[in-house]
Amino acid sequence: MVILLLACASPPTLPEGDPTRPDVILVSIDSLRPDHLGAYGNTRTPSPSPFLDGLAAAGARYTEARSSSPWTLPSHVTMLSGRGPLEHGVVEDDRHIPDDLPMVQEAMRAGGFATGGFVSTVYVSDTYGFARGFDHFDDHDIQVKQNLQHPVRAEKVVDEAVKWAAEQGSKPVFLFVHLYDVHYPYLPPEPWAFRYDKAASKKAMKYRSYDWYFLHPVEAERWPRLLAQYDESIAYVDDQLQRLKAAWGDRKATWVITADHGEELGERGSWGHAHTLYPEAMRVPLIVSGAGVATPAVRDDRVGVLDVAATVAKLGGVDFPSRGVDVLGVVPPSRDQVFDTSRFDSARLGILHGDLRLDVDLAHDKVTLYDDAHDPGETNPIPGGVDPALVEQLWAAVGAHWTSTGAVMSTGWMRQPGGEALHRQELPTTFALFPPDAKVDGPATRDAALPTVVELGEATKSLLEALGYEQ
Ligand SMILES: [Zn+2]
Repeated sequence: MVILLLACASPPTLPEGDPTRPDVILVSIDSLRPDHLGAYGNTRTPSPSPFLDGLAAAGARYTEARSSSPWTLPSHVTMLSGRGPLEHGVVEDDRHIPDDLPMVQEAMRAGGFATGGFVSTVYVSDTYGFARGFDHFDDHDIQVKQNLQHPVRAEKVVDEAVKWAAEQGSKPVFLFVHLYDVHYPYLPPEPWAFRYDKAASKKAMKYRSYDWYFLHPVEAERWPRLLAQYDESIAYVDDQLQRLKAAWGDRKATWVITADHGEELGERGSWGHAHTLYPEAMRVPLIVSGAGVATPAVRDDRVGVLDVAATVAKLGGVDFPSRGVDVLGVVPPSRDQVFDTSRFDSARLGILHGDLRLDVDLAHDKVTLYDDAHDPGETNPIPGGVDPALVEQLWAAVGAHWTSTGAVMSTGWMRQPGGEALHRQELPTTFALFPPDAKVDGPATRDAALPTVVELGEATKSLLEALGYEQ
């Protein structure tokens, strides 16, 4: 009992900071869907997220934030580098963050911040190179996928983060915290467990492996309990973040709260994440609040995980090259957002262009188009088939995105800078993965000039210019 009490003791309070340079605290809550936060419309009583609701009410809350990838590893590389998955290339288990990929924590450290990273899954660990640029990085030596059986609790992550921050004196701090507790199997500790629902039976509590659920639908009678567990996990994490805030006291900090991806909770009969690009998997919360955010705002800009690094850098007053934008500034209207995944033998590409969302399931040779303005859940594909001219236009936009970032896709294979096969799965040749008249004739290098890699036909050039891409 003594040990338990010590473990639950409040962390220390930080010393006074530099009032001219507020701390920046980036929190990634793994698998957190925005619509399960009170601030985004969860009507459970009490709200599972009183602390985050308060941050959102006092700061900027983004209603149209999305990830670039529906799973943890590529998404976090994007979050900290401001480069999309097909540009950084860390899209498979055996990929490591390239040594020459700039990470925002390096820029913050060079700019005078003490940098600390505290994470709780192997996919954000130093196994993949995430420690680079952090003065102190704690991944709990997670080397294997032990997370589901032996999760690192938010309480431990928060305690260690606060302990480290308290040792930095008045030096401004950039803190990156990754919390895993909202990731399945959703097993929060007491007293958060059973807050919203009691288990109907032992069977209803039993967690089968994700692989099992990948092949079998979740039984209908399990859903109420599963949804309650998900929200109870959010409540636990919210409480831990409240503890983190309490440790900061009056010391100035700006908070950036987001997630690496969402979670399928029964939509399309599916549960989990990583293998599709639908809104339930791609939408994420984004809240920026605290020092420097004087006016509360609810914003519907097209932003996302890609913009986190640029936003952090701007808050820190440091330069950082990225594809993202500072979300507190003016966000360019009509931005395209591009998504992809090859996880669990999937091969999906997607683009949100205006209100149209093109979903390309390469593994099943299927193209679907959605009108996200009128069908935000993407439950009703645009009927009557897809207009081939429109698909070509969207396809060209996808190609323009990839060519502009130096990532190369060739017919039949996707390749990353350097020419190495990026996705192992051979893709159907019925899809031209480039604008139809593009000629792919060699490997690319990062930031290579476009003409050395791909020759665009005149028709495609005109189309891309009409879409707003500079050639
Ligand atoms: Zn994740």
